[in-house]
Amino acid sequence: MAGRGGRTAPKAVAARESQMTEGRIEYLIKEAREAGFDAAGGLDRSTVALYPDVRAACEVNRCGRFGKSWSCPPACGTLEECAARLGKYSAGLIVQTVGRLEDEFDAEGMDAAGRRHAESFRALSERLWGEFPDMLPVGTASCSLCGRCTWPDAPCRNPRGAFAPMEAYGMMVSEICRRNGLDYYHGKGTITFTACYFLE
Ligand code: SF4
Repeated sequence: MAGRGGRTAPKAVAARESQMTEGRIEYLIKEAREAGFDAAGGLDRSTVALYPDVRAACEVNRCGRFGKSWSCPPACGTLEECAARLGKYSAGLIVQTVGRLEDEFDAEGMDAAGRRHAESFRALSERLWGEFPDMLPVGTASCSLCGRCTWPDAPCRNPRGAFAPMEAYGMMVSEICRRNGLDYYHGKGTITFTACYFLE
């Protein structure tokens, strides 16, 4: 699948046609809003390309989490392994938290929006596990559930709550939003956090 900038997804990525009905998507969007998200929309798996160069950016380690967490590379698996994990899904849900900032240096506002996003993601995960026991949540940032991650010395303390970020899967978040009809940028003075669930 060709993507923006001539990038190419690994051959292992193959998507089934989305089977989710409009009514089902509306129900999931309502659930997302009740969990605290500001925006949500259906996710068609066929719109999701995995880019080796997005994944390679993890190794630059600007966030400082490369090689520090079970949720991040290399522990979350190779791009091919991530692609294989996604192979059985056809549809899901994109969720967003939109924070309002006083100005572009409003670090407190950014942190508050990030915390709200993480709380909503955990809350919606809990609601969805019952209905979609095989779902795959893909988050926004490295897992920070524990003060210090056990990687690589001991197993993850909470594998069900440790979500790899979309970038670790090689996903270009802006592209996925655009292809599924969601805004990636919500205007001046805002910051947006995006995550998704692959459901069925
Ligand atoms: S739950 Fe704890 S051990 Fe598991 S990835 Fe998150 S921080 Fe690491």
